[in-house]
Amino acid sequence: MARTFTLEVVTPDRRVFSEPVTFFSVRGAAGELGVLPGHIPLFTTLAPGLLHFKRDNGEQGVLTVMGGFLNVQPDRATVLAEVAERGEDLDEVRARAAKERAEAQLSRQHDVQSELALQRAILRLRAFEVLGMHARR
Ligand code: ATP
Repeated sequence: MARTFTLEVVTPDRRVFSEPVTFFSVRGAAGELGVLPGHIPLFTTLAPGLLHFKRDNGEQGVLTVMGGFLNVQPDRATVLAEVAERGEDLDEVRARAAKERAEAQLSRQHDVQSELALQRAILRLRAFEVLGMHARR
């Protein structure tokens, strides 16, 4: 069986990621889901979370995926998300500012938009922590 398969992450604006990988994991509707080459076909919704992947050379990476859908075929997996980012493309200062803004808003009044903004900012900051862990390995 092939060691790799193509992982694509697409948003309405652009193709965020398209590379051969040996493994990835995402937060599926029923919890964390890991996908290896030759996985049975699967279609599921995704919760906002981090997508961890591994390249054939052993390198690991991370993307943020703010919910969406996952379609797995034996040779290709596609994530469709409204918003997704490669970890290395994220602006940390912007994510910290977004977190502070959302927390300040939520301390005044609870609203769903700010809850979601806080969740996105926290995920982006977690992606930085993961990138830092990979860099230290
Ligand atoms: P902000 O308040 O900083 O705009 P947001 O959570 O409201 O953050 P989104 O609506 O989720 O932003 O995303 C809008 C666009 O900005 C998307 O294309 C997203 O990828 C990009 N984006 C948001 N935050 C960041 C970030 N910290 N670094 C890089 N791109 C970001």
